[in-house]
Amino acid sequence: MVDWSGGNDRGPTPKKDAIWVCAARDGVTDAPIYLRNRQLAEKWIRAFLAEEVDAGHRVLAGFDFAFGYPDGFGKALTGSDDPFAVWDWFAQRVKDAPDANNRFDLAGEINAMFPGIGPFWGNGRRHDIPHLPRKGSAREGHGLPEKRAAEAQAKGAFPVWQLAGAGAVGSQVIMGLPVLARLRAEFRDALRVWPFEPLDASIAIVEIWPSLIAKAVTATMPEGQIKDAHQVALLAQTLSRLPATQLAAMLDIPYTAEGSILGLGHVSLLEETAMAPAAPRPLKNDCFAMPQGAHWTPVDDALEHLRSQLRPVTGIENLPIAQVAGRFLAGDVEAARAHPPAPNAAVDGYGFAGPAAEGMQRMPLITGRAAAGAPFSGAVPEGRAIRILTGANLPEGVDTVILQEDVTATPSEIAFQGPLKKGANARKAGEDMVAGQTILTSGRRLSPADLGTMAAAGIGSVAVRQCLRVGVLSTGDELQDPGMPADAGQIYDANRPMLSALIKHWDYTLVDLGRAPDDQTKLRAVLDQRAADCDVILSSGGASAGDEDHISTLLEGTGSFALWRIAVKPGRPLALGLWNNTPVFGLPGNPVAAMVCALIFARPALRVLAGGGWTEPQSYQLPAAFSKSKKAGRREYLRARITDGEVEIFTSEGSGRISGLSWATGLVALNDPAQNIKPGDPVTYIPFYSFEP
Ligand code: AMP
Ligand code: MG
Repeated sequence: MVDWSGGNDRGPTPKKDAIWVCAARDGVTDAPIYLRNRQLAEKWIRAFLAEEVDAGHRVLAGFDFAFGYPDGFGKALTGSDDPFAVWDWFAQRVKDAPDANNRFDLAGEINAMFPGIGPFWGNGRRHDIPHLPRKGSAREGHGLPEKRAAEAQAKGAFPVWQLAGAGAVGSQVIMGLPVLARLRAEFRDALRVWPFEPLDASIAIVEIWPSLIAKAVTATMPEGQIKDAHQVALLAQTLSRLPATQLAAMLDIPYTAEGSILGLGHVSLLEETAMAPAAPRPLKNDCFAMPQGAHWTPVDDALEHLRSQLRPVTGIENLPIAQVAGRFLAGDVEAARAHPPAPNAAVDGYGFAGPAAEGMQRMPLITGRAAAGAPFSGAVPEGRAIRILTGANLPEGVDTVILQEDVTATPSEIAFQGPLKKGANARKAGEDMVAGQTILTSGRRLSPADLGTMAAAGIGSVAVRQCLRVGVLSTGDELQDPGMPADAGQIYDANRPMLSALIKHWDYTLVDLGRAPDDQTKLRAVLDQRAADCDVILSSGGASAGDEDHISTLLEGTGSFALWRIAVKPGRPLALGLWNNTPVFGLPGNPVAAMVCALIFARPALRVLAGGGWTEPQSYQLPAAFSKSKKAGRREYLRARITDGEVEIFTSEGSGRISGLSWATGLVALNDPAQNIKPGDPVTYIPFYSFEP
């Protein structure tokens, strides 16, 4: 989608009222692109279309100016009913450069061809222009309708006759049609224009009007974003999200040489689509179903099942890079420009054409200097040097820099001891990253360093997964909130603060679902009310198959329930299922088991749901400081810590002893086969910090 402009060059920094372009594919937008003038825009659009056509894609290319004039104008101007005759008429006569164009003079010339005064009006120049009134009210007797049928339907749309003043679009049309005429001539059989031709080619050029979805634009406007940029992005995203049948219905209008605005009569559908959060496909109802067979599922089989059955459940959004630390990339990121963009100096010193020969070298200095952000525009002649500072682009004639500490300098000359290799102390353009190179791949969790890398590579915003919303729920009649009085029959809810902190540590959005009693009706009410606020729920307690195991009982009623008996200690079964499409991980109530199961099973599962893909925690082989023999058939995780390079384990394996979790700095994983560990034997130690998001 292109937001066009009828005015002059808007300068290098992104500004409003310039040309903004944004592409979307499968409902996800690229970053909006700022194009400071029409010459750059035409070049960019041509290259974009060529690339997409070559790739075998179809493009719906929208431009926000009228493709035709009110009934009767074209025939009077060109003698033909063909709307393209008007395009070609303008293409032959419009003169356009970044800082000057003839649109007002041309409009005056057209007015002179019509009786009376008008139809064009509005003059952005100081001097008067023959036949072009400054005010619309001065017009009379030109004999043409004020609006196209499309504008009559589009509340707030400006007539094409008005060339100047806030909101005027007349200039955009005059300055836009020649560009479309050239694209049409160039792409020929690959390009069709709506609604003048059947759209049976790769490129469909359509007229758009972003104000059609003004309400959604305002409602979704990110802080600090330029409106023009946001509205092309939103419109591109919206149209690309529409089901094909709905888009086809919008495009299905009768031929009119006036042209029309795509989406007229479908505004509420567009608004709804624009505001709806991007929702990926829900998980399959049987995603937790374990193949029948072994009574106890080995840990690795359980993990493999999660890995293969789960997929991202979060939508995708485009955010400025300052806001994406900790998010997962929704697509590969390519460098938008080379880094460094130009050859530059790596040190403060003097630049010249290298190499320098062995022995004492003397070089006259030329006047001027090159500094970062203040390049030297002239050329440096062979045999001479120029003062240059770190980060300064190398001037023409310079490829080598001598460190200032190695130089004796006077105002007119430097002397230093050679030799010095050609290219010394200079950074080559693109030596770090080249434009178009894939620098970060889809699913990556963005680190602070990644933000720096993307900024350097010219990336302003990226498509990331929306933040995974994780509900945390404790169940049990015996539970009391920390800090409240409790009688001997009560225990404090340890799991909720613990699991909640884990969720926050992993940078997900915590949804605190509180505590629920061992009461099916009440538990069901919590799930019914809150499941839609969560992308996934971690509950603890009530997850076995006993009388008071209400999470299991409720999930069983959904048809998606699976009780995983995993061969793991500490463990007890995991209850898994979907509550109205929201996956629920029913963890054991026992805090040590809840923690271990959250780290071992929930952590990688949440990562996949969040769009990050599966990862294994980093583990280390370290000598044991303990003896232990274990039976075959299950994985054991022991609370452990490192002392003098050896792994100690907590005195008790009792899974109720939560204090051992605080004592420990990680877990020792003892593999499924029988083992007889003696002091000094290597064991697998996983530090808690390895359970990273
Ligand atoms: P359950 O899985 O509900 O049978 O609970 C197993 C054990 O964990 C029982 O001793 C519960 O009292 C205890 N428990 C359950 N939930 C929590 C919790 N949120 N905080 C501390 N202990 C809990
Ligand atoms: Mg319980």
